[in-house]
Amino acid sequence: MSAQGIAVLGSTGSIGENTLDVLRQHPGRYRVVALLARSNVRRLVEQAREFRPDYIAIADATLLPQLRSLLQQAGLAPQVLAGPRAAEELAVLPEVQCVMAAIVGAAGLPSTLAAAGAGKRLCIANKEALVMAGPLVLAAARRSGALIMPIDSEHNAIFQCLPAGARLGEAPAGVRRVLLTASGGPFRDWSAAALENVTPQQACAHPVWSMGRKISVDSATLMNKGLEMIEAALLFGLPAGRIEVVIHRQSVVHSLVEYVDGSVLAQLGSPDMRTPIAHALAWPERMASGVQFLDLLRVARLDFEAPDTGRFPCLALAVEAARAGGEMPAVLNAANEVAVEAFLAGRLGFGGIPETCAAVMNAWGSLNGARELDAILAADARARALAGEELARQEAKA
Ligand code: NDP
Ligand code: MG
Repeated sequence: MSAQGIAVLGSTGSIGENTLDVLRQHPGRYRVVALLARSNVRRLVEQAREFRPDYIAIADATLLPQLRSLLQQAGLAPQVLAGPRAAEELAVLPEVQCVMAAIVGAAGLPSTLAAAGAGKRLCIANKEALVMAGPLVLAAARRSGALIMPIDSEHNAIFQCLPAGARLGEAPAGVRRVLLTASGGPFRDWSAAALENVTPQQACAHPVWSMGRKISVDSATLMNKGLEMIEAALLFGLPAGRIEVVIHRQSVVHSLVEYVDGSVLAQLGSPDMRTPIAHALAWPERMASGVQFLDLLRVARLDFEAPDTGRFPCLALAVEAARAGGEMPAVLNAANEVAVEAFLAGRLGFGGIPETCAAVMNAWGSLNGARELDAILAADARARALAGEELARQEAKA
């Protein structure tokens, strides 16, 4: 069997690095064809030294000269691409059979959609793309025959617990509900008053998972679970009412599927993204991932609690967006991206994140049910503008 060509989009991030670590363990099975980052030129060139890809790309085109000179110093001569469209070009290369979509945020949508349209095995970590334009991604995959594999640990767990032959986007036969587990983030036991003074550093120090800064903040506000609920509704063809969020602090049960006969199937494992990554790459086969095997006696107990939407209103906002449908999930996603960036930059308090999202959703007006990419991108742009106005209002008030 010849090695499978893979493009890792967002290779310098947390998912990107974990992906490369899995690939490193299976050199004959996979060949890294392309690597892409936004701005971390140094790490990108180190990765290129190790994996010798045919293509290297940097989304921030101003860094192209620096990338070229570092590649030259390293004695490497891959094809070099730059700019915001580079990810889409890599996603459709004929020598790429598998795309790891690990860019963070709305910026990952065009390349995720391109990979779905080009019939690739599409390993999706980029949940924002599914939240914004899930039906489009699924429809493109259906037309081209692309295989979508969820990387998000919860969705990967659910996928593993589904009945054989289940098709993504369609309600699986015999399934009553899915249960999405959530660690609860670093502030799960904090009072509402204490939450007001949270710093970006505290928000990025997750008790269980080590992740990029944006998803770390999303985990702290529980917006991550909200986005995941929208992602699950889409991938598994279920209404929001059939998805229950359960706080499970040990992060050992990654999610569960409840069947009509009362059976509940769960996927368990050490909290390490290399398991879902290896699963998605190798499915329907299995391959080693390098994770520590689960020692249930050491875990000793598994706790489950209801989430508190009073202290964490982002979860309720996501349920509202899912129920509203149309472009509302994309609107929520855009407002959240703007608010998280402002929080990380020290311009917005922690409680300002749900406040901004709620204000943008309230100001949105009637839904036009945007389905086409252009309409979704227009909704994204307008929601960002509204979020900017809301931030200015909050700054003026402070
Ligand atoms: P990181 O911030 O660690 O990495 C993001 C990657 O995307 C980096 O390689 C970054 O490049 C690149 N990137 C950022 N912006 C752009 C852009 N505009 N154009 C092109 N590339 C860009 O994020 P994570 O790896 O944590 O998360 C990636 C995605 O996976 C997110 O959607 C997240 O929700 C999802 N996910 C992550 C999990 C995790 O454990 N980390 C778990 C489940 C889902 P550079 O380094 O140069 O900035
Ligand atoms: Mg997750």
